[in-house]
Amino acid sequence: MFKKVLIANRGEIALRIHRACKEMGISTVAVHSTADADAMHVRLADESVCLGPPDAKASYLNIPAIVSAATITGADAVHPGYGFLSEEASFASILEVHGFTFIGPTAEHISLMGDKVAAKQAVEENGVPVVPGSAGAIESTSEARSTAQEIGYPVLIKAAGGGGGRGMQVVRSADEVEAAYTMARTEAKASFQNDTVYMEKFLERPRHIEVQVFADGQGGAVHLGERDCSLQRRHQKVLEEARSPALDDTQRDKIGKIAADAVRRIGYVNAGTIEFLFEDGEFYFIEMNTRLQVEHPVTEMITGIDMVREQIRVASGSPLSFTQEDITFRGHAIECRITAEHPETFVPSPGQVTNYHPPGGMSVRVDSGLYAGYSIPPYYDSLVAKLIVHGRDRSECLMRLRRSLEEYVIAGIETTIPLHAKIVENSDFINGDYDIHWLERFVAEEI
Ligand code: ADP
Repeated sequence: MFKKVLIANRGEIALRIHRACKEMGISTVAVHSTADADAMHVRLADESVCLGPPDAKASYLNIPAIVSAATITGADAVHPGYGFLSEEASFASILEVHGFTFIGPTAEHISLMGDKVAAKQAVEENGVPVVPGSAGAIESTSEARSTAQEIGYPVLIKAAGGGGGRGMQVVRSADEVEAAYTMARTEAKASFQNDTVYMEKFLERPRHIEVQVFADGQGGAVHLGERDCSLQRRHQKVLEEARSPALDDTQRDKIGKIAADAVRRIGYVNAGTIEFLFEDGEFYFIEMNTRLQVEHPVTEMITGIDMVREQIRVASGSPLSFTQEDITFRGHAIECRITAEHPETFVPSPGQVTNYHPPGGMSVRVDSGLYAGYSIPPYYDSLVAKLIVHGRDRSECLMRLRRSLEEYVIAGIETTIPLHAKIVENSDFINGDYDIHWLERFVAEEI
């Protein structure tokens, strides 16, 4: 087992990884930018190294600086968290070259799944249902037109190197194709330095349902059930729950098994998430994320499995500590992503937290690096806390979530707590009756 792990991230996820390490008797190294010198993960880590100035390119994305930090502190392994370098294949391979273990999948699997066109082909060959769409990249406007005709409008043009919901264009009719195709390529080039685009059927009212998978590369490959992440704003998840209110046990078992079998066949190692759209009883693969997800705690709450601990164990060469039969699902969990943004206008609201009082009590978990007096820097993602609540069933979970949101005090800045408080009072949400467009409509009409 590793003696020392360097955590190549910041915020709540750096803290989350630190906690798992400490519970395993592993020392931690925090890395940070000059803007994060006072961050909680830096305070709690056994050692810390300043990487550079606030700009992420000079700090959290600065591979040479991170490798140097791992070298001078004598770390054995690096956990990338999510975002930043977590899906950068070259980071994984550079670490291995320098003798450090990357806590995650192989560079090959990261590259394969990072190319969404290749990923779709790879999973389809391994029995996973995909969204109807182009066979590969779309090379010209005329190909875009003919493919759209074959698939049937509306269609969605997506970036092969895409992420974070950026670079997608909905096309509703033939006369929109040319402009949308040009726009998608330009946006893809600007955002991802890769102007390859592909086309999919645009599903009108799907849910976003993803399956958590875990494999050890030694024959062990399991699924940890699904999460429903349909509540999104600008294609970004806002609230997630497990299990999905839309599935029955037969549907769950079926998609879970398909996902676990696919990762076993492709020889995948460590944690991953296979994302699907779900409409009219059918699942359609959209992408695989080769890392820990922001929303992993809802799975931890219903399975009792510490996923970061398991990631570290598997990366150190151990087989999975459980089989599919060992995994049991208990009750219901919901996560609210709390961001430092105005709850109605979504204008970012960095600055000093003057008072801080997180909720507590039975089955309430708060993953956050906030404390009174802390100044949220303006340079990074606006996620500042995750409130995760468990209940014996969905209605108990909702009652507990309501009272937890009422208890939560984060003063001095604006947060999205009031938005979550409104969502959990809404009858559609209470009934589990929502799709991926529901939240945008709710924000437009009710907020
Ligand atoms: P990214 O990697 O940018 O997050 P995804 O492929 O995961 O892109 O899609 C992000 C979100 O965009 C999905 O959760 C869904 O809301 C929407 N989306 C993606 N593909 C489709 C589609 N074919 N039809 C309708 N909505 C889609």
